[in-house]
Amino acid sequence: MKLTRLFAVSIAVLALLSSAMLGRIVLTEWNNYGAAADGLRILQLVQKSMLAAEKLSFERGPVNGMLGDALPHQALRLQRLAAARGASDRALAELQDAVGAGPAPSAAALAALQRVRQALAAARQTVDRLAALPQEQRAPAELTATVEQMFALVPIIMETVNEFSRSSQQRYPQFSVILQNARFAVELREYAGRLGSQLTAALVARRPLDEAAQRRIQFIEGRIEQLRELIKLPTNNVATDPRLLAALRAMEQRYFGDGLALVAGMVEASRAGRPYLMDTGQFAERYVPTMAPILRVRDVLLEASLEQAQQAYHTARRQLLLACATGALTLLVLAVLALIVRRRVIRPLLWATRALVNLSNGDLASEVRGTRRRDEVGDLLRALVALRAGALDKRRLEQERQQLMEELRRSADTDYLTGILNRRAFTAAGQQRMRGAQENDLSLAVILFDIDHFKSVNDCHGHDAGDQVLIRVAALVRHELRDGEILARYGGEEFVVMPAYCDLNAARVVAERLRRAIEAEPLPLVDGHILRITASFGVAAASGERAALDGLFHAADLALYRAKHLGRNRVEG
Ligand code: GH3
Ligand code: MG
Ligand code: MG
Repeated sequence: MKLTRLFAVSIAVLALLSSAMLGRIVLTEWNNYGAAADGLRILQLVQKSMLAAEKLSFERGPVNGMLGDALPHQALRLQRLAAARGASDRALAELQDAVGAGPAPSAAALAALQRVRQALAAARQTVDRLAALPQEQRAPAELTATVEQMFALVPIIMETVNEFSRSSQQRYPQFSVILQNARFAVELREYAGRLGSQLTAALVARRPLDEAAQRRIQFIEGRIEQLRELIKLPTNNVATDPRLLAALRAMEQRYFGDGLALVAGMVEASRAGRPYLMDTGQFAERYVPTMAPILRVRDVLLEASLEQAQQAYHTARRQLLLACATGALTLLVLAVLALIVRRRVIRPLLWATRALVNLSNGDLASEVRGTRRRDEVGDLLRALVALRAGALDKRRLEQERQQLMEELRRSADTDYLTGILNRRAFTAAGQQRMRGAQENDLSLAVILFDIDHFKSVNDCHGHDAGDQVLIRVAALVRHELRDGEILARYGGEEFVVMPAYCDLNAARVVAERLRRAIEAEPLPLVDGHILRITASFGVAAASGERAALDGLFHAADLALYRAKHLGRNRVEG
């Protein structure tokens, strides 16, 4: 596997594993957070339903006042009743909203709320009908029934209190005792209210308590005593809360002292047949405030559990945020690390590898990248640059050497003045041709020509002009020759031509063509003179195995000599 691929796969696996692990942590924290938020909401529902229960209990006070009142009703009592009913309605509406706002509203709670609303509406109707009658027409049985109707409301709303308390206890087992004690306080408030209500009929009728009422009072007092003991059960870490201790003290003093003493006074008066000295309204005004510390106990317990739930919620939220932040940071660090390793190690290593491969392949054209890095990989790349520079130098030197050798070889083969082959090179080429002719039984010819009266050119126009003439003649003849026809300077003002394999006649034709071209060419000199020259040609040819270059030259030389002798500017052979 290639390094880059291995790196990419490793990073991907690492990222996947980290994401899975972090995802698990975040999910756990998210669940904790959800449970804490849910628990807090349910605890708030417990509080709201307890508040609704309290308001329904409380509404009975003004109702009792109204039922014991002579017509017309006092404006203040009417107001109190209206205020109490408003408070009940608001508490129920708030509870209903809170229940409905949750993610999965409890059907049982909503049904209980529906029932309590209906029962409340019916009870209020009964209360209003009875209160509109003149005082003497309100039969005690009807009064008791109406009071019972109002009593019946609280157990219904307590169903929601119990349901939410149960769910809350499931989420926060540590709140079990606290919530139970709060429920006891709610119940105590309810029974305390009921105790007061038991006196309503007797107070309205200004008669002693009948036997049934006395029995009920005894029963309720028994339950109240029970609840008094239950509330004092230790409530975990809230037990020492100064707020709770103060509330319990106030409850003992106000309700179990003043409130119960007031009721005991009334019962005593009833038993002794003494007048009560107060009507229901006056009784309620004295009795109801003594129940307030019971609610304070409930509120302190609820406050404590809410505070703890809120703390749990905030902790869960903090943990969730921390988990998210840690997760994001971990992935970020991983990404940055991957990037750094890729940029600082993998990529430069690839460059180094490519550079090395290029060097080993002799490809010196590509530059080495990343040499400015100040680390070990940078050192490696710089070393490669040095290596490449060395290789480049070596190659340049080699090229120069090659060039030099080529030049040397060329100058060894070339005539320095005319630039055509010299006699040595011509002999080598001629020998090769001769071998070809011998092997293939071909005919080979040599044309020697010598410029006529060249000495006089030198004499009349100077040695430089003579050189110019030699250069021009060489160029002219080279121009006239075709592919495969070799030209060389044989020495002095003597040249040699070797046509491609051909016989004597064909060679003569070539020589004749050259002779005419030289004769026809005007040669302008530096001093302004236009010179015309001629040359004499000797041609010789040989074929087969017996042919030899020396012999050929010799024959051509003899022919040239003949041409000179016979008057120059002619071809012999
Ligand atoms: P012929 O017609 O019999 O060939 O007469 P010629 O004057 O050409 O012959 P000769 O051999 O008497 O003279 C050759 C002259 O060519 C002698 C020499 O000074 C001259 N020469 C030889 N090589 C060079 C050269 O490279 N440059 C110059 N300018 N002259 C050269
Ligand atoms: Mg000569
Ligand atoms: Mg000559």
